[in-house]
Amino acid sequence: MTAEIINGKEIAAKKREEIAKEVEKLKENGVTPGLAVILVGNNHASRTYVTNKQKSCQELGMHSILIEMPEEVSEEELLGKIDELNQDPEIHGILVQLPIPKHIDEKKVIESISPLKDVDGFHPVNIGRMMTGQNTFLPCTPYGIMVLLEETGISVAGKHVVVVGRSNIVGKPVGQLMLNQHATVTYCHSKTKDLKSYTKQADIVVAAVGIANFIKADHIKEGAVVIDVGINRNEAGKLCGDVDFEEVSQVAGYITPVPKGVGPMTITMLMYNTVKSAAESSNR
Ligand code: NAD
Repeated sequence: MTAEIINGKEIAAKKREEIAKEVEKLKENGVTPGLAVILVGNNHASRTYVTNKQKSCQELGMHSILIEMPEEVSEEELLGKIDELNQDPEIHGILVQLPIPKHIDEKKVIESISPLKDVDGFHPVNIGRMMTGQNTFLPCTPYGIMVLLEETGISVAGKHVVVVGRSNIVGKPVGQLMLNQHATVTYCHSKTKDLKSYTKQADIVVAAVGIANFIKADHIKEGAVVIDVGINRNEAGKLCGDVDFEEVSQVAGYITPVPKGVGPMTITMLMYNTVKSAAESSNR
């Protein structure tokens, strides 16, 4: 069997067209969705992510600002800047690019962002809302995965989903979103014994591990859906996922490639959340 490819780039482009239309409508009503991104220090990967987010805002006709702070900025100064943005009516979404330097308490920073502007969906209030199925900002990568499945016509209701990885930004929330849509969910992680015995049972496997080509063909049931969240470099320095694409695509029914799978959806859902925030702010 050769798996069908879930083309994240195409699905993201379709979603972006919808978002651009929504931006136009809001602008006609005098509201330009605005995103503020705070970048602390000079992490190369973070800078690339931030540049891509700004570029996406521009392409969609949104307002965006980048606030750069030096590595040695104090926690107080960062929290002060977030507070300013919380009050700024032109800003509907605030994002602090992670990781931040160790001398700053990440939890404090996340909690200082107004839940009404937390377009990353990391604030505990929004996580609680997600868990209880209320209106909120869903975290972008997990949300993007749900959209990929929906757009491919794959229903998760009644399916056994095995999530490999339990991070707060990917593993945990993606399992919760699957559960909200009536999947039976199993979480596996670094302490799981006999990982294959779980993944082999899965109708849908979500790999969010951070180890290049970690999931092999013998982890996967024939015809299963395989979602690869990983962004890694292999020994040759080439971008690759957590799933051994060559092998697994021979067994799976559907598979997301890396690149052009989950990746393009993350920024797209960030744009979606910012526009949603702008629309909701104009209704308050
Ligand atoms: P993380 O390091 O926070 O979490 C990794 C998880 O994998 C942990 O929960 C750990 O328990 C689990 N794990 C580690 N070794 C394991 C093993 N041997 N067996 C089973 N589980 C194991 O990572 P993260 O932030 O969740 O990111 C995971 C991957 O996804 C990374 O490659 C990251 O770059 C990528 N990522 C991609 C996007 C995107 O937009 N596509 C977004 C976020 C993260």
